[in-house]
Parts: sequence; structure tokens; C-alpha cells
Amino acid sequence: MPEKLHDQCGVFGIYSNDISDVASQCYLALYALQHRGQESCGIAVCNDGVMQYHNDLGLVPDVFSKEKLEKLGKGNMAVGHVRYSPVDQRSRSNAQPLVVRHSKGSIAIAHNGSLTNAQTLRENLQLQGTVFHTTNDTEVIINIITKKRINTNSIENAIEETMKEIKGAYSLVIMSPKKLIAVRDICGFRPLCLGKLNGAYIIASESCALDSIGADFIRDIEPGEILIIDHHGQRSIKTHCGKKNNMCVFEFIYFARPDSIIEGANVHEARIRAGRFLAEEHPVDAQVVIGVPSSGLDAALGYSQYSEIPYGVGFIKNRYIGRTFIAPTQEEREKAIRIKLNTIASTIKNKKVILIDDSIIRGTTMKRIVNLVRETGAKEVHLRISSPPFINPCYFGTDISSRENLISHKMTTPQICNYLGADSLGFLSVKNVAKIAKNAKCNFCDGCFTGNYPVPEPVIIKKSKYDHKIGELDF
Ligand code: SF4
Repeated sequence: MPEKLHDQCGVFGIYSNDISDVASQCYLALYALQHRGQESCGIAVCNDGVMQYHNDLGLVPDVFSKEKLEKLGKGNMAVGHVRYSPVDQRSRSNAQPLVVRHSKGSIAIAHNGSLTNAQTLRENLQLQGTVFHTTNDTEVIINIITKKRINTNSIENAIEETMKEIKGAYSLVIMSPKKLIAVRDICGFRPLCLGKLNGAYIIASESCALDSIGADFIRDIEPGEILIIDHHGQRSIKTHCGKKNNMCVFEFIYFARPDSIIEGANVHEARIRAGRFLAEEHPVDAQVVIGVPSSGLDAALGYSQYSEIPYGVGFIKNRYIGRTFIAPTQEEREKAIRIKLNTIASTIKNKKVILIDDSIIRGTTMKRIVNLVRETGAKEVHLRISSPPFINPCYFGTDISSRENLISHKMTTPQICNYLGADSLGFLSVKNVAKIAKNAKCNFCDGCFTGNYPVPEPVIIKKSKYDHKIGELDF
């Protein structure tokens, strides 16, 4: 169980009418989407129906050297992907885009989200003789699409049929020999938007990827929409639209980059509003408001604005520590927090401090942070969290698949406060979390706070014992 909630992927696609260096555009955009996944990444390029691709474990600059990009060659379409994965799925074979050959040529797919019926679909496909090379849901989707394609007259119709079978969260970018296709599940759990750059169409998880290559934002892809881009231009199939509309509210709380605009709402402003609501709901007499970098900073600013208690920079985060940082002994792990994060004493010492973060999952790191603030000389530490207590698992493309280690599932708020060593603790209410993204053109999923999921929970989450071993083998 991780300390922070993680979204599992970011996707990107480009369709140009000319043969050009689409791989480089993809590379730049993946840099901008790196926050959505740091385990692996990949790019597939299509030139006249022929697809070249490269994907591997690692960050975008580690996986793609100049030579690797040049080797992908030029093309008129490209698809890119960055991936974060749960521990039991960390393997090179799970890196995307997935590229397969079927009866109508090659197809590449990049997926953000998780299916709730993937295991059932996988077992059914295996009983029909399908073999799998990965443990991810994306291969289930591509297998169903390619099977449907045999009896349909276009790839988009095969996708439309596939959407009747797959349940859960999926924002997809699919590349066939002649078309680039964007697909969003009926709830629209994960973001997906359309942009344009000098006549080329762009699909991206977030608008910050459009900004990174100088593209203009056009609109969000609708929940349930299939958007097809080819030499005729763009058109949509909307037979699955209008059924639901429940975007993940955590995109605004934590996942998305603050400079992105999603469903018409600015992510940075949403986090400030979360902080303002928090100050309204949980006021406290204090002298400074500080945020845990980077995720708590915007909400801390909002709390400060509403409460008129000064905002201070309480921490310095070590920017050069990657996910690979390993502290071998327990004692070193205890000290690791100071290597990752150190306090600024002049902001904190002898003051009553309001400490803001976006969420508490296990509570282990938060306990160390509260202790750090106390060791720095704070007179009082009042912890405020810009989301409601996280008490239920998420099945829609994050890495929290069970309740057992969620601190808010096991303890009441006063018990958590006591465990963390804070003087007081307050969470944002479910009522107000739904209001943080002002003017957003969507409703929100709040299943992890309320247990009310917009689609049924998965009945079985069963994995073969060998699937669990794949990560270890591939490393
Ligand atoms: S359950 Fe929570 S984390 Fe998962 S999609 Fe819904 S709001 Fe997002």
C-alpha cells in the first residue's frame, strides 16, 4: 500500500496530415504528463500503416535518447503513454502503447484507467484460446476490439461494440493504420481532451500536454464519446454518451497538474478553493499556514487567503530524489523523511502551525512530517486535509485496491489525530469536495469517501499466482 494515491497513466496521440516528426511532439508531451506515471513509457509511430514503437521501464528522458527517437522515424500519427503501476504489475511487458497485428493490420493502444470486469473478460477470452503477453487490462481491451473488428465494417464500430462489454474506467488513444481514435468511458473517470496544432489534431490526458507543444485546447472528450480523426477530419460516435458523468474528483485534488484545465475548471484554482472550504469548515487560531510540498501548497494558500493567517514556506523538498531512493534499514527509513523534505525553522519555530496536505492514505509519512514540524519547534501543529477521509478502495485506475491499510478505514478522526501526534485534525467534507472545481461541466465520483461508486464494484479481483511473479521476473 503506497503512502500517496497514484493515478496509473497518461496518454497522448497526434494526427497530422503530413509526414513529420510526430515522435518528437509525443516525447515533449509525455514529459508534461510524467506526473501521471513514472514506471514506464512508450511511443508508437505510424507511417503509411506501418508502426514502429519503443517502450521500456523508466522516465521519459531515460527511455528515449535522441537515437531512439530517430529510430522511430517520421510518420503522420503517433501514440504515447506514461505508466505508473501497482507493485504486482511492474514489468517491462506491461509498458505501453501496446502494439499488435490483427486481420486488418497493426493497431496501437494507450490506456488510462482500470476495468472493473477485466478479470472475467480475460478468463472468458482465455477459455476461447486467447493468449496474453501482459497482466494489464489494456490487452483485454485490444483483444476484444480485434475480435469485434472481424465482424464489423470499421475499427470505430468495433470499439463501439467493445464498449458494451468493458466496464469501469478507460480513457484510450487508439491508432489504426489510417485513424487516430480517442475513447472515454461512460462515466468519464479519467480526463481526455482534444487540441490542435497547425492543422494536426492532438489527444491528451491533460491540457498541460497541449501547452507543452504549443497546441490550442479545443474541448474535452465527452464521457462515452468515440472521436475519430482521419483524412476526412474529425467526427464522433455518441451512442454511449449521456448515460453517466462521474469524473474522479481526485484529479482535481491531487492527480492532475495544477496548470491543467479539465472540464472547464482550472486545477490550481480548484485546490485553492479546497483550502478555502477547509478554512471555513475547520478554523483554528494559529500564526502560520504551511503546505506539504508539492500537493498541499495550493490548498495551504487557499486556507491562508480565507483565514487571513499568513502563508509560509515551511518545507524544502529535495528535487533530486527519485522513486528509486532506497533506505535499507529502519533507522535510515526514519531519517529518509529529512532527506526528502526538510523544514525551514524561521517559518515554524515557536509558532502555532496549520499544516495542510491533500490526503492521508496509510498515515506513516504524515506521522513523520508532523513529528518533523514539532522537532523544528512548532508550539502546536494543526493538521488540515483538503479531501475527505479516504475509507474505501478505488477500482478506477488508481493503486488503492483494498481497505485494510487505509488509516481512515481503521480509525476515527480523533484516533488518527492522536496517532499522528497532531493537536487537531480536520478533513474537507464530502459536500464541499464536490464544489472545489468551480464551473466544471461534470459531476464527480466520490466512491473512495462515500462507498457510493458510479458503477458496480468488481465482483472478483483474482490474479494468478504467476501474474504476481511477473514483476520480479522482468526486473
Ligand atoms: S473512487 Fe476516489 S480515487 Fe477512485 S475514481 Fe472515484 S473519486 Fe477517484
